Amino acid sequence: MEIARFEVVGRFAPSPTGPLHFGSLVAAVGSYCLARYHKGRWLLRMEDLDAPRVVPGAADDILRTLESFGLEWDGPVVWQSRRGDAYAQALECLRTKGLVFDCGCSRKEVLASAPHQGEEGPVYPGTCRKGLAPGRVPRALRLKVPDQGMHCFVDGVFGRCEQHLADAVGDFVLRRADGVYAYQLAVVVDDAAAGVTQVVRGADLLGSTPRQIYLQQCLGYCVPRYYHLPLVLSADGEKISKRHGAVSVGQGTDPSLMLCRVLRFLGQDLPPHCEKKTPQEILEWATTHFDIRKTPSVGQVVA
Ligand code: GLU
Repeated sequence: MEIARFEVVGRFAPSPTGPLHFGSLVAAVGSYCLARYHKGRWLLRMEDLDAPRVVPGAADDILRTLESFGLEWDGPVVWQSRRGDAYAQALECLRTKGLVFDCGCSRKEVLASAPHQGEEGPVYPGTCRKGLAPGRVPRALRLKVPDQGMHCFVDGVFGRCEQHLADAVGDFVLRRADGVYAYQLAVVVDDAAAGVTQVVRGADLLGSTPRQIYLQQCLGYCVPRYYHLPLVLSADGEKISKRHGAVSVGQGTDPSLMLCRVLRFLGQDLPPHCEKKTPQEILEWATTHFDIRKTPSVGQVVA
């Protein structure tokens, strides 16, 4: 009897706000190796929704850099900027279920009336949840978050994680006042549409995962398995980001050397003289030997 196999689908979803840096390469290599280790597909999505933050030329630069590392994706690249209809449809579905509401509050008003500071800024106090007060104009669209206690999930690297969504975040934005769809909505809609079963990304997004799982439940989607990778830290213990001047890993760097550094960062024991191999040979080794159980959860400084 033929046993149906569960196909693994992984993805890498960079934001084209600058060239690929060491931290984003960690997410690219980690998601690639885990998907290929499971003989699965690896998809690529450009998260270019937030037009003012998009840097012209950055998306192309990221794609060329991935190619230079031998990181080949399956199928066409998905561009979030072209998926407005899918996001609108998902919002409509949530509206029909009575799960979203128009909010007339400005950022300043939320800040002034928030009951407390949440994990990622002020917690929404619920001002417009029961309808807009007379004279108020709708600005953002928010999802109602019920006060139903802890939201838990088991991360493939961090283990059991939990968040009290109502306390830590509150009713969160799905479409901003400027009409831009929120990252939380887009990522959930896109992962579901592509049949993604495995989300591997940086630990800076650990706090977003309960929101995304809750949205998946509201929309009736399957919940993928999550793996959050350790953060790349600067010498003073801060997360390295493009804003903090992280160096690009593109042109001028030796791809083999860089791949070996990333794999060691992910806790993999490489064979001797690995740096002398081609990127293709290194990836071939990595995709047959990749062991996510060896990946540490604590951030590390990379010299
Ligand atoms: N676009 C996000 C970033 O570059 C990653 C989103 C995700 O992997 O869910 O940080």
